[in-house]
Amino acid sequence: MKRKTQKISVGNVKIGGDAPIAVQSMCATRTTDIPATLAQLKLLESAGADLIRVAIDSRKDVEALRELRKECKANLVVDLQENYRLASDLAPFVDKVRYNPGHLHHHQKELSVRDKVKFLADTAGEHDCAIRIGVNFGSLDPAQKEQGVDSSDVALASAVQHCELMDEFGFTEFLVSLKSSNPNAVIAINKEFAAKRPQTPLHLGVTEAGLLPEGAIKTRIAFEQLLSQGIGDTVRVSLTLPDSEKDKEIFVAKEILADVEAGRFRSVPEFLESGLNVISCPSCSRVENGKFVELAQEVKKVTEYAKEHDLTIAVMGCRVNGPGETDDADLGLWCAPNFVNLKKGSEELGAFPYDEIIARLLEEVDALIAKKS
Ligand code: SF4
Repeated sequence: MKRKTQKISVGNVKIGGDAPIAVQSMCATRTTDIPATLAQLKLLESAGADLIRVAIDSRKDVEALRELRKECKANLVVDLQENYRLASDLAPFVDKVRYNPGHLHHHQKELSVRDKVKFLADTAGEHDCAIRIGVNFGSLDPAQKEQGVDSSDVALASAVQHCELMDEFGFTEFLVSLKSSNPNAVIAINKEFAAKRPQTPLHLGVTEAGLLPEGAIKTRIAFEQLLSQGIGDTVRVSLTLPDSEKDKEIFVAKEILADVEAGRFRSVPEFLESGLNVISCPSCSRVENGKFVELAQEVKKVTEYAKEHDLTIAVMGCRVNGPGETDDADLGLWCAPNFVNLKKGSEELGAFPYDEIIARLLEEVDALIAKKS
């Protein structure tokens, strides 16, 4: 179906309208490790990535990216977390900045969100840099969340509110993403958003889709349902992979796009939200311990025996998104440099060394199975 969005420019790529659907991925290496990040950029570029995202948390990351820019022609996107002000250092040499509305509340509490968004729009506009308003179910506006409003209503309201701010400031080169780890939630909210803002380009993704093959299946379910209805202008497949295999995100995305284009659909199987669901983040420069991917693989392997039980276990790589993104899981793990934090729902159970966490996790899995049955 024909897409109705307006076309925007991100570096030398057009996104939206009749432009081909752009494919993107993200570096998982530490941004300050210049040789490793350059190798990752080249790997993704040669796999055919139209855009490549890099995580930026500090001025050291900014300086590292400035060096990387000299060596790499790819269209670069930066992922800002709490420190939105770094945008002014980055916009002169990157092609897009992504901010998360749920993270604008942390720094400079005396300033309004409106003022912060104006700063971002003005800074990006001055340097021909695009913006992604990246809303995640796991890190929503804390003020609205406390009022107990449904996650999907908060996410949708937040995306629309930020688009309206962009309109008010006369900034046109922006797009939106609305991500959840549940493909059904991704389908529903993107359809709702497209009905409200048909002109705004959409970046599609199922966040923390996890390991292969389940990560690709969950993503395919969401993408097939949306792309076939003309919803989605750029895509990212988020998989938990070793750094050397990160290009699989691009290959999986291209395969799904080619299948949808050719009318080859496999996703009619609905995502049933039953049985064991292990979700894990795709990792990025913020990962706190290189053992994260192995831990996610191990969690999947050792919990296999619980596959008939309706349980969600979330494994996250860092403290930035780990605590919030695990809230909706029955059990959540997130990595720190020397230990792994364990949660049951939103209750923190403690921090455990890497060689003890699996045994501790299994105690909780068994207790939950016993309780549910
Ligand atoms: S949870 Fe942390 S390490 Fe994982 S992708 Fe998100 S920011 Fe990166």
